[in-house]
Amino acid sequence: MEFRLIDRLQALTAQARDDVRLGIGDDAALLAVPAGQELAVAIDTLVEGVHFPRGTAPADIGWKALAVNLSDLAAMGATPAWALLALTLPAQPADAQQDLVDGLAEGFSQLARMHRVALVGGDTTRGPFALSVAVHGFVPPGQALRRDGARAGDLVFVTGTLGDAAAGLQRLASAADSDEEKRRAGLRARLNRPEPRVAAGLALRGRASACIDVSDGLLADLAHVCTASGVGAEVDAALLPLSSALLGCCDAAEACDFALSGGDDYELCFAVPPARAGEVQADLARLGCGATRIGRIVEGTGVRVRGIDGQWLMPTRTGWDHFPDETARP
Ligand code: ADP
Ligand code: MG
Repeated sequence: MEFRLIDRLQALTAQARDDVRLGIGDDAALLAVPAGQELAVAIDTLVEGVHFPRGTAPADIGWKALAVNLSDLAAMGATPAWALLALTLPAQPADAQQDLVDGLAEGFSQLARMHRVALVGGDTTRGPFALSVAVHGFVPPGQALRRDGARAGDLVFVTGTLGDAAAGLQRLASAADSDEEKRRAGLRARLNRPEPRVAAGLALRGRASACIDVSDGLLADLAHVCTASGVGAEVDAALLPLSSALLGCCDAAEACDFALSGGDDYELCFAVPPARAGEVQADLARLGCGATRIGRIVEGTGVRVRGIDGQWLMPTRTGWDHFPDETARP
């Protein structure tokens, strides 16, 4: 049974690469790292009920498990090459198990083909439904995009649009009205089929001073950059890139909250010295994802947010709000 599933996975994800000397089937894969390149490696786990709701289409789960990992490589400016897949499958009848594996492999391989990623091995066990994907990519020595290079005066950018995935998660149920349903389907696609910004990450090599992918939420992730770099950041809510689908399903304040605090966007947030900002923006526009300036790096610590009306905001338990009293404003 287990071996039939592995055979299916192998057949469904086949991807020819010269640097795979030995793929699925032996005790370990044998891989040739191109001479003079550094290996960038990352791993992420998705657990049913924690990282995706029960009932998510298997193909979406397979796609997302690879996407969140490719997003980590994108944030490092690495070119993806190989993946490992550790599958924990619930006990169920053989045909249901095969449908699940086929669905996972279909979504996984759709994205893998787009980035020429070869599945070179993994592990298959029984237990609560979860999958871990490990990815490997290449980056020229010293050129990886790290979190610790941001400097006061750099401008802060983000690719694409923010908040869609979080709004999609909150509005999972289908809508009655057909325009509203179209918008919701678009938001759910952002949640289930995130597109890792691999090309953008490559374009940022040698130009961005720091970079991170937005998985936990813009403010949380930008705060990681600030901590690693020993700086602070100011974000202007009025500059946040919001999709028309997001603005069509909630008011401006709610859209801002989704964009600031919602997770699962998998856009890149990065810092660039002002002199390079124009060329970087032009290049990312050419790549199709675009990049929007949302703030700047400052001396100090932490991330501060200026609201749409120009007043500083404070984090609250449920989102971001104006300072309750005037004196608290910086
Ligand atoms: P071993 O017992 O030697 O660890 P396994 O029986 O677990 O080997 O796996 C046999 C082969 O199938 C190995 O090459 C392994 O990498 C591959 N494999 C197992 N599970 C998966 C999976 N979910 N995805 C891809 N390859 C897998
Ligand atoms: Mg073995």
